[in-house]
Amino acid sequence: MNIKPLDILHKYYGYTSFRKGQENIITSIINKEDVLAIMPTGGGKSICYQVPALCLDGITIVISPLISLMKDQVDALNTMGIKASLINSSLSNSEYSKVLEEIENDECKIIYIAPERLDSMEFVNIIRGKNISQVAIDEAHCVSQWGHDFRVSYKKIPYFINRLDKRPIVTAFTATASNEVREDIVNILDLHKPAIYITGFDRENLSINIVKSSSKNKYTLDYVENHKNESGIIYASTRKEVESIYEGLLKRNYSVAKYHAGLSNEARKEYQENFINDDIKIMVATNAFGMGIDKPNIRWVLHYNMPQSIENYYQEIGRAGRDGEDSECVLLFSPGDVHTQKYLVEVGIENPERKRVQYKKLQQMVDLVYSNTCYRKSILNYFGEPFLEDCNNCSNCLNEGEVVDKTLDAQKVISCIARMKRSFGATMIIDVLRGSKNKKVLDLGFDTLTTYGIMKNYSNEDLKTFINTLVSHGFLDVVENIGPRGSFPTIKLNEQSLKVIKQEIKVEFKEDKVTKSRYVENELYEMLVSLRGEIAKEEGVAPYMVFG
Ligand code: ADP
Ligand code: MG
Ligand code: ZN
Repeated sequence: MNIKPLDILHKYYGYTSFRKGQENIITSIINKEDVLAIMPTGGGKSICYQVPALCLDGITIVISPLISLMKDQVDALNTMGIKASLINSSLSNSEYSKVLEEIENDECKIIYIAPERLDSMEFVNIIRGKNISQVAIDEAHCVSQWGHDFRVSYKKIPYFINRLDKRPIVTAFTATASNEVREDIVNILDLHKPAIYITGFDRENLSINIVKSSSKNKYTLDYVENHKNESGIIYASTRKEVESIYEGLLKRNYSVAKYHAGLSNEARKEYQENFINDDIKIMVATNAFGMGIDKPNIRWVLHYNMPQSIENYYQEIGRAGRDGEDSECVLLFSPGDVHTQKYLVEVGIENPERKRVQYKKLQQMVDLVYSNTCYRKSILNYFGEPFLEDCNNCSNCLNEGEVVDKTLDAQKVISCIARMKRSFGATMIIDVLRGSKNKKVLDLGFDTLTTYGIMKNYSNEDLKTFINTLVSHGFLDVVENIGPRGSFPTIKLNEQSLKVIKQEIKVEFKEDKVTKSRYVENELYEMLVSLRGEIAKEEGVAPYMVFG
């Protein structure tokens, strides 16, 4: 009981000091408090429950959804001389009996268990009579429908705890910081007056870059060529896109693996292991890849598409640089990404309230992309962490583009919207501003407005970007309308818009200095364009459209 946490850290893990937040969390647990700890990916959550497990008398049960990674964790603990075992569906009957016997004979200090095994009667019967000091719930956001990775079996956890003779300390760990998820964790897992720690979301060693208006394919090929000797992940939104990028890189002889939910378990396992063991350098994956993996030397994460929320984005880039070395994160953005994500929300979420929340998150992600303040500051503030200085290590801080006055153009957009009276989506507004002969525009009589055709000098794409930039800077609002045939966003004026019209405020944006040529011909690009068309046909997504 009076073993010092720092001694454990030295003795077993060989680390010299705790990281930010770890020590306070550990102290709370040792003082028998329930804890909810929210730490970024790679922040070092495992140690926060493992060290107390060793300080406290009795057994710690760790509930984790990640069957493939439990073994790594348990092997690592055993190598350090800590008695740990695991229970999940990968065990044969005889292996399972052996683990139960170890527990029976008090030969086990830490037990990793998959949540779906918690109602096994044999396990419960043996464990309930034992001295359980802590039940630690890893990836605790899985209990919440609001999280991005809901698991029904997590609902079993409170029943399991109630069946124990004596209630142990219950601790929960996640990298997901949203309020809804946090409240769900506390309520559903029935944490008793938990000490809540939200720690150090900043990952200093990650440089955050967002690249707009560039050929993604050309960029990716160049990027991979320049980083082929380092480990990196390319994230894409759909399985098809993963396959296509994978094939494109394989054809060019890069060392590449792939991962998505459409592959067999065996294939996924093999690709993952090859990547983790450095046999393969590049992983192309959907967001199905990565939860809980602990590969220290991932030097770069390239997002081929924009993720669905800032939470997802931060979690995914968090897999880079776990060893603390500088690592690079690049998000390649095109307006089509917004549409793909919208589609995924539309088909993926039924509950209207959840849908609304998800749309809001998507909008916040889009706003981040189009903002021109320090990305790190924006992200950390989003997570509720006060971070006031510019980081000088993100593409906004480092962008030396010129500040241009866009007040006049903004006034044109705003007065057009005002004249259209009812609310419309961006596409319609763009059509009117560009003087489109589209039947809908003519039928509604918009060709008679004084603002009809006043922004012909903009291309369709540039005007979309401009309107999105106005939205992300708060000069316009987006209001999501959920109707019987799905949802569509409309653009609305707000107080800021009126101030712009009245010349009370100026609209100034920093131009992206790196505006590379948009359409560079190459095979991979061709392939992806046709692929997008295919996805569009198959799934009813119009390619390259923003905001309906
Ligand atoms: P996560 O919060 O994503 O679960 P992990 O617990 O897997 O993170 O830890 C990430 C990495 O950081 C691991 O390689 C771990 O060994 C390392 N780590 C954690 N705490 C410390 C520490 N105090 N000193 C040095 N390395 C640490
Ligand atoms: Mg972890
Ligand atoms: Zn910055």
